[in-house]
Amino acid sequence: MSQPRVPRPLFCGNWKLWGSLSESLALAAGVRDATAGVTTVDVAVGPGFVALAAVAEKLKSSALGVAAQDGYWEVKGAFTGEVAMAQIADAGARYVIIGHSERRQFFSETDANVARKAKAALGLHLTPIICIGETLAERDAGQALARVAGQLDGATRELSEAELVKVVIAYEPVWAIGTGRNATPEQAQEVHAAIRAQLTSRLKSKAQEIRILYGGSVKPDNVASLMGQKDIDGALVGGASLTVESFAKLVKEGASACIRS
Ligand code: PEP
Repeated sequence: MSQPRVPRPLFCGNWKLWGSLSESLALAAGVRDATAGVTTVDVAVGPGFVALAAVAEKLKSSALGVAAQDGYWEVKGAFTGEVAMAQIADAGARYVIIGHSERRQFFSETDANVARKAKAALGLHLTPIICIGETLAERDAGQALARVAGQLDGATRELSEAELVKVVIAYEPVWAIGTGRNATPEQAQEVHAAIRAQLTSRLKSKAQEIRILYGGSVKPDNVASLMGQKDIDGALVGGASLTVESFAKLVKEGASACIRS
């Protein structure tokens, strides 16, 4: 009989700047219903802030989790436009995506700020999904592993071991996000194995419990080959999470690949 995979895989949608309140509620309810039979992996959706609390309320009694797309480390104060981790937790989210490459590229997100956000999220029992990944220029220059190692260290150096074991890492090569061009399973596995080794140097065998997601043009038809890799523990999904049909298919394909491998 097949054993449940450790760590338990996670498939998280990132809706980015998409969806009215009613569209978000309909998509969340559709994903909830279409994935209700999937019990071997965790699944979450990532609505925009305006819909966060309403989506969380709608999904309250289901297994489908909710992720915010960013969050601020201060609890309150004069920080116009920011949304505190405390507010995100209060809204009913379980996860918070931080350090996404679009935040780094368009909103000057730094490793130091990602580290503050991770610490603040963990303090409120939110699971941070810490995104790291190299640009195409860095990959072409042979710097992919060094770049990812630097981002991982910068985001997690200040976390205690007890905190570090609770994070989710998402390896998202910038050149694969929203481009339709994804890393091959072998390219992704090489980086995931390096991330696992870096985590192992701090956590020893506990590093095996950390979920390392892959993100970058994951679709229903390529998810299985990615999940067949030893250190790929799920996916962070943008475009393919925007319809019930594609995200539910992706989750189901991914979940069965996780059982087979
Ligand atoms: C993302 O937004 O994190 C992402 C991976 O997007 P896409 O799946 O569209 O490449």
